[in-house]
Amino acid sequence: MEAQLLEGKKVAEKLKVEVTREVERYSKKTGSAPTLRAIQLGEDPASELYLKSQKRAAESVGAKHEITSLAASATEQDLIGEIERANRDPKVQGIIVQMPLPKSFRIDRVLDTIHPDKDVEAVTTKNLGRLLMNKEGLAPCTARACIRLIEETGVNVYGKEGVVIGSSKVVGLPAFLLLIGKKVTSTICHTGTFKSGALESHIRRSDVLIVSAGKPALIPGAWIKQGAIVIDVGINHVNGKTVGDVEFESAKKRAGFITPVPGGVGPLTTMTLMENLITVAKAQAGIS
Ligand code: NAD
Repeated sequence: MEAQLLEGKKVAEKLKVEVTREVERYSKKTGSAPTLRAIQLGEDPASELYLKSQKRAAESVGAKHEITSLAASATEQDLIGEIERANRDPKVQGIIVQMPLPKSFRIDRVLDTIHPDKDVEAVTTKNLGRLLMNKEGLAPCTARACIRLIEETGVNVYGKEGVVIGSSKVVGLPAFLLLIGKKVTSTICHTGTFKSGALESHIRRSDVLIVSAGKPALIPGAWIKQGAIVIDVGINHVNGKTVGDVEFESAKKRAGFITPVPGGVGPLTTMTLMENLITVAKAQAGIS
């Protein structure tokens, strides 16, 4: 039997209904819609696409989306100044700094300038620390989207084996923490695991697999455990096609559930950003 497809778009539509209702409630109580300000430095095609989908998602739930564009020649201090301005602006509830940034920038320093209360992507040390301490609150959007897709399967993952490939602070690491929160017995793999040749053995025993490495065809379908839940976060462009990190055609013959790329995690990530926006906006306004 072929795997069931986990389509992010459908799940995002359901989430949109909830977020729209909360945005309406917020807007009625405060007299204005929650506002997300994206700060961009220079131009990047992937960032432009993400900005467009943020704007579309914001408008679809009744929120506002603003873009502050800095020249490619702007300094780290210019960017920090712009973030501080947004921190002080009472009309801005959420701040997002678009990636990539120049290699010379200290990314942690830049991101930690975002006020944690306005950190819609949960990328500041404080918000990631809260996740580590297993506190209620924000989680990075892509990691949260992965978990929501796993929940969507209806499978009870308590005590199952989970493997996350990739340990980035925005996806792999928080996804790993969220899996642990669901009492999945979890392992995180990275380039070290790949170089030691141990990747296959971890994947073969994985009931829940989240892959976020950004390497096309990294995971052969033959490695997937029968019936596993496979969440492929990777976005790679190969010969004019967008593909994930998992060999989709062979993997779907073994998996129980699998996300397509495109159309899997991506569409849900943007709606999760809107969910985070209304969460921080309500907290700032003291609305429960
Ligand atoms: P990153 O580059 O910050 O981190 C990649 C991680 O993968 C690192 O921890 C690295 O150790 C690991 N890795 C790299 N090669 C590996 C290998 N051969 N074997 C095992 N581990 C390996 O990446 P990221 O920000 O987590 O993004 C990863 C991918 O996910 C990219 O393709 C990116 O475009 C995509 N992405 C998609 C969404 C979405 O919404 N769908 C969101 C964010 C990122």
